[in-house]
Amino acid sequence: MRTPEKTADVIVLGAGMVGVCSALALQKKGLQVTLVDGNDAGSETSFGNAGIITPSSLIPFNNPKLFKSLPSFLANKSNGFRYSLPYALSEIATLVHFMTFAKKRSTEQRIHHLYQLIERSGELHKVQSDAANCSDQLRPSGWLKLYRSEQSWQGAKYEQDIYDQYNIQTRELGTAQIAEFEPNLQNIYYRGSHIEQALSVASPGGLVKAYVSHYHSLGGVFLKQFVDQVSQQGEQWQLKLRNGETLTSPKLVLAAGPWSKQLSTDLGIKLPMLFERGGHREYHSDQQALISSPIHDVDGSFVATPIENGIRLSCGVELNHQMADHSNTQLDIVERNARKGFSFAEQATSQWQGARPTMPDSMPVIGPSRLKGLWFNTGHQHIGFSTGPGSAEILAKSVLGEALTQDQQAFSPARFKL
Ligand SMILES: Cc1cc2nc3c(=O)[nH]c(=O)nc-3n(C[C@H](O)[C@H](O)[C@H](O)COP(=O)(O)OP(=O)(O)OC[C@H]3O[C@@H](n4cnc5c(N)ncnc54)[C@H](O)[C@@H]3O)c2cc1C
Repeated sequence: MRTPEKTADVIVLGAGMVGVCSALALQKKGLQVTLVDGNDAGSETSFGNAGIITPSSLIPFNNPKLFKSLPSFLANKSNGFRYSLPYALSEIATLVHFMTFAKKRSTEQRIHHLYQLIERSGELHKVQSDAANCSDQLRPSGWLKLYRSEQSWQGAKYEQDIYDQYNIQTRELGTAQIAEFEPNLQNIYYRGSHIEQALSVASPGGLVKAYVSHYHSLGGVFLKQFVDQVSQQGEQWQLKLRNGETLTSPKLVLAAGPWSKQLSTDLGIKLPMLFERGGHREYHSDQQALISSPIHDVDGSFVATPIENGIRLSCGVELNHQMADHSNTQLDIVERNARKGFSFAEQATSQWQGARPTMPDSMPVIGPSRLKGLWFNTGHQHIGFSTGPGSAEILAKSVLGEALTQDQQAFSPARFKL
């Protein structure tokens, strides 16, 4: 077994979906990789998400429809979006920047780039899960979007037009077809749209762990150690670990999800990252599966994902500090909303909260920083569980100095002068 301190060509900091896929892609290129995380792989944001991998995630939150929703968002009364005023004020410049991207042309360009990334990631998830012997975790479930009124169904036309443009197959369901498709749902839905190509997993953290086992079986080193400090010493990157040891390597990939912001600040790089906090509750049940595929109740502002013995209910966005105290507000709201849609266990068995790491243009930053030997793969906002493998492919090419396509270059950290 090689000693990671001496022989790593590259260190990857962070073993969420993005970091683990980055380590695998770099390893595939023949590099000796050391992956380091303070927790088990896939224990943070990549654990807590809704587990959906779908091409329909190509539309960024800051799109032209945002202007219409703004009054209800600002009033802090929306089911799907809340914010902390002190946090919003502390990030006002980044928020204004975020809003400037919501114009039509910029949105079309970003949709194009995100589509390429998501599509490629879907293909690579299949290849990677086959290689890791865990392809059974990727369920070809599709994803059912549900609308409670004609008005909200009409409001989805913007998304539907984009799905059509990108050939994302959907099947429209009327009330009777919804009942046939998901018999356990109450009769409160006006229309549904089933996104046929969507995949889902019952345990997002489980998939990351299967990928890291594969990386390990191919000789990759994973160190479960918290990194207390990162510094540049001449041509080397030096990581001080919690156990007192030091890791050095000429190349470092920062893939620490929402923690990438503080780690960058420590290195003198101001990452314009916003935190879209969110969470889930799980409800276990002895009954057979309540729903056969994940559902997104658009008016109820929740996603319900079938898990092994029940459901995971995920909520929308709370714009707030990464480390703000946990708030039950949105989880309580979506639980109430979901109970109108179907019945499930009275008590939640577990609850989790975390933060989506979001850049002003809602696109991840993948590529070299202005500091020699430092690369980013972070800022994957609402879709990092899906985009891990595609972003890792771009990152590995960039570390090796290989040519990138125009779409791949669109994710360069240089766009924010990082
Ligand atoms: C409620 C919710 C639902 C979501 N649903 C979906 C979905 O259905 N589909 C989808 O594609 N995406 C979804 N997302 C988004 C997705 O979860 C994230 O984009 C993705 O998990 C980010 O992965 P990551 O690897 O960048 O970060 P993380 O998974 O957070 O990994 C970062 C890692 O860095 C480690 N780390 C940080 N600092 C240090 C340090 N100093 N030393 C050592 N280790 C450190 C952490 O321990 C962590 O393991 C959702 C997010 C939320 C919050």
